[in-house]
Amino acid sequence: MSHDVAQLCAELIRFDTTNFGEGNSRGEHEIASFIHGLLADAGYEPVLLGPEQARSSVVVRVPGQDRTLPGLLVHAHLDVVPAEPEQWSFDPFAGEIADGYIYGRGASDMKDMVAMSLATLLDWAATGTRPRRDIVVAFVADEEDKGDYGALWLAAEHPGLFAGIEAAIGESGGAATLLTAADGGLVHLYPVAVAERGTLHIRVRATGTSGHGSRPVDRNAVKLLISALDRVGSHRWPLTLTPVVRAYIEGTTAALGFPSDLTSEDGVQAAIAAMGEAGTVAGVTIRCSATPTVLRAGYKVNVIPGVAEADIDIRALPGTETATMDMIDELLGEGITREFLSYQPPTQSSPDSPWFAAMAAALQRHDPAAVVVPYCMGGGTDAKAFAPLGISCFGFSPLGADPEGRSVAGVHGIDERVPVHSLRTGQLVLQDFLGTV
Ligand SMILES: [Zn+2]
Repeated sequence: MSHDVAQLCAELIRFDTTNFGEGNSRGEHEIASFIHGLLADAGYEPVLLGPEQARSSVVVRVPGQDRTLPGLLVHAHLDVVPAEPEQWSFDPFAGEIADGYIYGRGASDMKDMVAMSLATLLDWAATGTRPRRDIVVAFVADEEDKGDYGALWLAAEHPGLFAGIEAAIGESGGAATLLTAADGGLVHLYPVAVAERGTLHIRVRATGTSGHGSRPVDRNAVKLLISALDRVGSHRWPLTLTPVVRAYIEGTTAALGFPSDLTSEDGVQAAIAAMGEAGTVAGVTIRCSATPTVLRAGYKVNVIPGVAEADIDIRALPGTETATMDMIDELLGEGITREFLSYQPPTQSSPDSPWFAAMAAALQRHDPAAVVVPYCMGGGTDAKAFAPLGISCFGFSPLGADPEGRSVAGVHGIDERVPVHSLRTGQLVLQDFLGTV
């Protein structure tokens, strides 16, 4: 078996590790056993564990040269979202390498990072290399659902595995985004996630008078619920520029050579528009959001139900959780109750930390043109499971720029792929960072 990072990534894709949600998944034990075997054969002492055998994760600690230094965690998830093969132009789980790409579900979310981390560990074992500080690598199950069988379970049941860890790197960040500057030049932007909006999922319930559909009632639960959801869904959340989002917009527009005036909503929108592809994430992180997603009420057309329920997906920027929920309560109004389905607060790490500086330096050693900017994720990752352990979390799964313009595509969609060159360069950056940080 080759330890070439591209071959490893393709091999990992061939494990169908689809996470269907609601506790249903496949392949996580098989891929975890495979990784456990590789690491054990290389001389490491990995542990294979999970709340049940089918939901296995692998954790390994590599002792550093200076064990008094705080440790670093690398976390990468093994599961993937479902693929509908009839919509793809190739088999999502064949793991083919062609035309400069590695193809398949998980190619970029995130078996690329699993492969880069594994290749680093195997290279260290082969060359007798020890990193400066302790590095813990966690290959985890169940990220694509709630993490109850993966990161959340590990953090709750086995916090000792993460003893002495001060910072973590994981998905979403450190990948090259090529943008066209005002003067027509090419900017190599590398956004590194230092924050995530919180995930506040709630279930709301309206209670009314039940009865016969032919006799309208004053308090119809369906009507009450629909009105409340309309208020929530139509609410224009205030512009909230956190320091990280501001730094992202200012850093990116400056690199592109566009002026930015962030003192008004119009100015912010103009700056985001000038950022091209990099503006998308800025657009979803300049305010909180609340999106009704699930409705449940009634069972027969001529019966007025006494209860109607809905689920709402709320995303709160760092520091806004209380104000956001106060506003939600105001919008829901009288007679609507709510409960949390999940409450994962926002995460926030420092872009001024030595950790961030070390990531930026590693990127710049391999791409002297790299412009590294901090950003806030609109959604969430397993960082939310590890942050409560007191760990500063960063989104850093580096991928280099492909010289022929290939790029990552199909994440959570069809025909997922990652350029081979980007992966190889990413692995060099990752190995450099992990060895020297
Ligand atoms: Zn992912």
